[in-house]
Amino acid sequence: MKIDIALLVKNALERFEAQEELNGFAIYEDAQALSPIRLHTKAWYEQQIVHVHLIIEYRLRMVCSRCLSEFEYEDKLVSKEKFTIEQLATMHPSGIFNSMQLAREAIILKIPMKKLCESTCEGLVYKGFTEEWEDEIIFEGNPHFDKLKELLEKADKEV
Ligand SMILES: [Zn+2]
Repeated sequence: MKIDIALLVKNALERFEAQEELNGFAIYEDAQALSPIRLHTKAWYEQQIVHVHLIIEYRLRMVCSRCLSEFEYEDKLVSKEKFTIEQLATMHPSGIFNSMQLAREAIILKIPMKKLCESTCEGLVYKGFTEEWEDEIIFEGNPHFDKLKELLEKADKEV
């Protein structure tokens, strides 16, 4: 919802309200808010303060930090912000601000650092030996490689 700050102030106590559907957006490489994002905005001016309340319903698509599979989940966020006229004027010199921007920020802030498909996710599941693994095992058991291994470990430490 586009909020005209001067209009809010002029109509103190009157509630401006809108329900909208917003387009989704990419948040990080491994996280995306899907369309549509449902946003319900209420804004009013009361005792020198601009109140902006948001209810945001949205769906996220993310890549699990442990098993690397894609998963989706729905979330609902309630955000209650208060601003002084001075703050809004500094942030929005045009005198108009869009609650969509606040909604996007609120969604971004709520993205967890560790994205897990389930809290019990055990990560990449062991799927048997690949050739790479076999090489490693030969490497471990073969005395001819001991010197090489030593050198590699030394090189690792130096990095
Ligand atoms: Zn997972």
